[in-house]
Amino acid sequence: MKPTVFIPESIAPAGLDLLHSECRCVKGWEETDDLAKDARLQQELYRADAIIVRLFRVAEQDMVRMQRLKVISKHGAGVDNIDCRAATVRGIPVVNTPEAVTTAVAEHTLALMLALSRRIAHADRALRAGTVGDRGRFLGIELAGSALGIVGLGRIGSRVAEMASLGFRMTVYAYDPYVAKAQYSGCASIEDSLESLLDKVDFLTLHVPLTGDTEHLINSRTLKLVKPGCRIINTSRGGVIDESALARALKDGRLGGAALDVVEEEPLQPDHPLCQAPNTLFTPHISGYTPECLDRMSLEAAQGVLDVLQGRRPDYIVNPEVLGEES
Ligand code: NAD
Repeated sequence: MKPTVFIPESIAPAGLDLLHSECRCVKGWEETDDLAKDARLQQELYRADAIIVRLFRVAEQDMVRMQRLKVISKHGAGVDNIDCRAATVRGIPVVNTPEAVTTAVAEHTLALMLALSRRIAHADRALRAGTVGDRGRFLGIELAGSALGIVGLGRIGSRVAEMASLGFRMTVYAYDPYVAKAQYSGCASIEDSLESLLDKVDFLTLHVPLTGDTEHLINSRTLKLVKPGCRIINTSRGGVIDESALARALKDGRLGGAALDVVEEEPLQPDHPLCQAPNTLFTPHISGYTPECLDRMSLEAAQGVLDVLQGRRPDYIVNPEVLGEES
């Protein structure tokens, strides 16, 4: 009997085509809008050998019921919607597609940075409303010569550093306690602390995973250290910023603006305090939404499932200790 792969959210056909001959795919998204209310699909979920998720939560209590589960595959990079500790305890590999998203997210970060620096969204809204008035209120700043601070110098952060430094001639600083300064030869100057980075930069962009250490890394204390007028971009995870503190700093005029692809509770609701804060720009968690990226994520998420089910080592594994390797 073919193993069952449960897929609650839609993925591009590339991955489904790869799985098709080897597995039985249950495409939850084609059958219901509310999995919790569909008893048959719930049974399929609990009987699955593998699951491919985007933002769908996989908690410990789900794993307890998923007795046949052999692999959890994340279509994307951040695995904060998966209880990886519980998976590791049960010996279940968690695989993901970190390389697939790098280009799309880095490009979206630059798009947000440019849109903030030149007040694109505000100008567009004013033109449509017939309220342009004095064009001086859309005065922007140039990226060239501005300083960019990158928090988290992994795949996406490093790509953003290259684009900003080589493409836009920005001066780039970065903070990442896990990158050894002595071995680093990239485009950024590595700072020893977050604090020392914050007061230097005109733009701050966040590229860290959401963990206990990074939750509310940007908060009322750290926002006080930021250079006045700094513009903040977040395409990582909403929880990295304390949103009430950010809204206050924007309303107080301490910051030049914020562009967010991610917020703590998604989708962003119109009554959220950040929607009333000045100089803000939002996108609905679409940094990875390019056909190229969606195809790569779908294909790599499916490949990760097949690798585990067929006894091969997957290319990207979040908890290698389940394979007896060092984490
Ligand atoms: P990565 O693992 O390659 O890089 C993360 C970097 O953060 C690492 O270098 C790590 O050392 C660093 N880091 C960890 N804790 C830190 C801390 N406390 N302070 C500073 N640096 C710290 O991951 P990536 O592929 O670059 O992705 C980064 C994050 O972007 C992901 O974890 C994910 O949450 C998010 N993401 C968002 C989207 C989206 O659609 N908006 C898409 C993909 C990824």
